[in-house]
Amino acid sequence: MPVGGESHENYTFHIEHSTLRAEEGKARVIRNTQQDAVPGSVVDTYDRPLKSLRLSVTDRCNLRCSYCMPEQDYVWLPREDVLTLEDMATLTGYFSDLGVDRVRLTGGEPLLRRGLSGLIRLLRQNPLIKDIALTTNGILLADYAEELYEAGLHRITVSLDTLRPERFHQLTRRDEYERVLEGITSVARAGFTGLKLDTVAIRGFNDDELVDLIEFGKQVQAEVRFIEYMDVGGANQWSQEKVFSRAAMLTTLAVHYGTIEPLPERGAAPAQRFVLPDGTTFGIIPSTTTPFCATCDRSRVTADGMWYRCLYATTGTDLRKSLRAGAAADEMRSLIRAGWEGRRDRGAEERKALERDGLRVGGLIGIEKLREDPHLEMHARGG
Ligand code: SAM
Ligand code: SF4
Ligand code: SF4
Repeated sequence: MPVGGESHENYTFHIEHSTLRAEEGKARVIRNTQQDAVPGSVVDTYDRPLKSLRLSVTDRCNLRCSYCMPEQDYVWLPREDVLTLEDMATLTGYFSDLGVDRVRLTGGEPLLRRGLSGLIRLLRQNPLIKDIALTTNGILLADYAEELYEAGLHRITVSLDTLRPERFHQLTRRDEYERVLEGITSVARAGFTGLKLDTVAIRGFNDDELVDLIEFGKQVQAEVRFIEYMDVGGANQWSQEKVFSRAAMLTTLAVHYGTIEPLPERGAAPAQRFVLPDGTTFGIIPSTTTPFCATCDRSRVTADGMWYRCLYATTGTDLRKSLRAGAAADEMRSLIRAGWEGRRDRGAEERKALERDGLRVGGLIGIEKLREDPHLEMHARGG
């Protein structure tokens, strides 16, 4: 169904269709399970398989994006608790035995973690892991792109919310815009293809830059993906008014480009992809207005080995404790299997339901609670 500038009914149809799709997701997930299941793989209470793992390799960051780290001071994970890279590879091995075949390295800022390429090399030795990706703010990318490529990293996503240096500073409280641009241009030079640029679209901040970002993406051979602003972790500046919705993004882009066609969906991938009349593709991740919990096969391990089965989960499983206590491989796999089989998380859908009832006000978690348990921060568990 095309999404065109003049045809507003088309948007409506498409959006309603997507909402229904999310609600009917259970049936789709069962189909996914049957298609993708590998021997030993597990499914949760909604039949969602365990497929994708986000490894947060550090909770430290060299930016202070207002939607993620708005505070002046943070409580950091104790250094002695942070897993070694070998432990991270070992844990990933247990996850892969149960179905995980995609790993995304994230943080905090993952390039601040010394020896990251060593972790990638270890992960490449695991034949069950088919895809290793990195999400980075790009500041250190020019220094590491070649090394990451040599180590065997498959794909890179750079977060870039604005092309205006003054806005970059306003958003991140750091003057690193030029280094991010250098990082982005170093990716293709190092040999990578399939670069993605992730933009959190915020109403009243960068909603006038969608076209510029897509045009910039063309120049650097990157696909741009617009993410709806989420009320996760410490995002205490979040408000419904700042969410620039998928529908609003499509309207804005269609006014400039004309007819926009949706592309076929790809399994549990969070981004819905679209194509412009000139063939340029882009994605939208409508996490807030159209949650995709029904097909969610992702979970997250923090740098100190806490395993969360949802971006919004407030409780997780302490895998470090068992690992350091010398648990056998079978015990570790049983722990993970039991955690996934009991998974009932649908965090974003539940947040959306609160909004319907007028109860979704401000960010998710208060600052006192975040200080008590820093794992609840987005920069600790990775986006
Ligand atoms: N530091 C790296 C970076 O920024 O790419 C990796 C970690 S960061 C937590 C991962 C992603 O989460 C980034 O693309 C960021 O824009 C996104 N993110 C953080 N807070 C968000 C929020 N409140 N709403 C939507 N996306 C958010
Ligand atoms: Fe920004 Fe990523 Fe750092 Fe969060 S972790 S402050 S999104 S660069
Ligand atoms: Fe998955 Fe939780 Fe995000 Fe829903 S809110 S898509 S269950 S991580």
